[in-house]
Amino acid sequence: MHFQWYPGHMTKAKRMMQENIKLIDLVIELVDARIPISSRNPDIDELGKHKARLIVLNKADLAQDKYNDAWMEYFQEKGYAVVKINAKKGSGMKSIQGVIAQACKEKIERDRKRGILNRPVRAMVVGIPNVGKSTFINSLAGKACTKTGNKPGVTKGKQWIRLNKNVELLDTPGILWPKFEDQSVGLKLAFIGSIKDEILQTEELVCRLIAFLKEYYRGILAEKYEVTESEDDYECLKAIARCRHCLLQGDVLDTEKAARLMLDDFRNGRLGKITLEFPQESY
Ligand code: GDP
Repeated sequence: MHFQWYPGHMTKAKRMMQENIKLIDLVIELVDARIPISSRNPDIDELGKHKARLIVLNKADLAQDKYNDAWMEYFQEKGYAVVKINAKKGSGMKSIQGVIAQACKEKIERDRKRGILNRPVRAMVVGIPNVGKSTFINSLAGKACTKTGNKPGVTKGKQWIRLNKNVELLDTPGILWPKFEDQSVGLKLAFIGSIKDEILQTEELVCRLIAFLKEYYRGILAEKYEVTESEDDYECLKAIARCRHCLLQGDVLDTEKAARLMLDDFRNGRLGKITLEFPQESY
């Protein structure tokens, strides 16, 4: 599912976020492990200042684990608590509660010094569309699932999910829009499918992905689609069409169809675990 951004949308999303953020102690920011920088909106640092911060590298199953670890280190050095997970399968979710407690320990300590005991930490999930916010919340709620809210004094519609005696989670995530003025950011977001493919024609987009894979993941295309990787990107796409029997009438290669098939293979992890940006590139 793709998300169309209109100025009205963005203003409303931002206003909701500004309101909700007042209610919470901890921002749980989901990013895509394949593009941990391009899938962020840096506005969250301003919106979430003075809050405890946790970065969740989601879809870690689709990214290379050595880079997941390198990204964890990168964010830890910047002072964030970090965890890598697969929200869909639930892996890594066991450690979440511990990491939340760790991310909030200063706050809990402050409360304790002021004599406030046992006040639960309140948290909110934020992230760009399609990063896995609902999956993550459902996975957490599925386990805990004591919903509070709709009590006297609680704004109707605002629901808190009680994760344990120490943590409550707002059941609606905050939506951040991606920042894709930078073309390479836009490309990466299009590769993973979080902005509309129409940013480029599918074939053009896939040729860019082919170029990236040839450079950073040599051998994958040869192995998967019998591509000769020394050929130019469009020739590689034609080879994919041949390999996958994408043909139009008269045995003309259907490169458009091949492009869609390949994007789908990539997005669903069928090309293997592929990280699209690396922490050693300086940001
Ligand atoms: P939201 O727009 O941020 O709420 O994203 P969703 O929760 O709707 O998830 C978007 C898509 O990503 C869905 O198809 C999910 O099944 C999928 N998804 C979510 N988390 C993961 C994950 O950790 N790994 C993989 N492979 N897919 C995931």
